[in-house]
Amino acid sequence: MKQRTIKNPLTLEGIGLHSGTKSSLTIHPAKENSGIVFKRKDLAEYNTIPALYNYVVDTQNCTCLGNEQGARVSTIEHLMAALSMCGIDNALIEVDALEVPIMDGSGLIFYNALKESAYEELPADRKYLKVLKGVSFTDSKASTVRLSPAENFSVHMEIEFPSQIVGHQVFDSEITSEIFGKEIAPCRTFCEKYQVDYLQSIGLIKGGSLENAIVLDGETLLNPEGFRVPHECVNHKVLDAIGDLYTSGYHILGHFAGFKTGHYHNNELLKVLFADPSNYEII
Ligand SMILES: [Zn+2]
Repeated sequence: MKQRTIKNPLTLEGIGLHSGTKSSLTIHPAKENSGIVFKRKDLAEYNTIPALYNYVVDTQNCTCLGNEQGARVSTIEHLMAALSMCGIDNALIEVDALEVPIMDGSGLIFYNALKESAYEELPADRKYLKVLKGVSFTDSKASTVRLSPAENFSVHMEIEFPSQIVGHQVFDSEITSEIFGKEIAPCRTFCEKYQVDYLQSIGLIKGGSLENAIVLDGETLLNPEGFRVPHECVNHKVLDAIGDLYTSGYHILGHFAGFKTGHYHNNELLKVLFADPSNYEII
């Protein structure tokens, strides 16, 4: 299989989750072996940032990339998941603000727009990262992520939430484009109302609303439309993991498992994976 890029530039607009202000992104074609690179159009210099795990500078509430000169771009994960599942190996993504627009809080708008785009096949072969040895990362609260050898890319994810409307949710499947499109891309980020109230009180998530998140208030779901798919919350974690794993720079052949984990764990896992070249091979 050959590497791909998008054939024509694709522009999407929305608002930034934290700023609440309008931002736009344009996905441009890029040449083979250049990978996914973000460019902050609003900064005059040192404004490019590779979408790679070793450029991740913050993992609180989202995955944020930064370069040595301090330029940052945050909330990349849902877009990264869509790029990965559309087989876009190379792209230059111009953003005109600190944040990738949050859109509807899921990966659906990115995925649908990319799926409908024309692609260009590039001369170089696509590279896959094949996991050869099991690697894991566990934090002080016993939340664990793991990658182990497998022929395809599959995910096992578990979450445990105090609210009974979420409770214990499990996802376990190979990740095909059909499953991604139907069961993962539409799944929105979720949070509790007290977290929203606190973050808004300190000037964050100004753009957060029921239009771009599932909000729980104890045992009540505040979104009148309800869940989009059963187990939407755990499936959103799968979306996040697919996006975060694409900061490896490769499509992964391996089995990923996460138990009560998030962006921080996904990033630490990639650091463990790449720390020892005998853990994997590039094919
Ligand atoms: Zn997310």
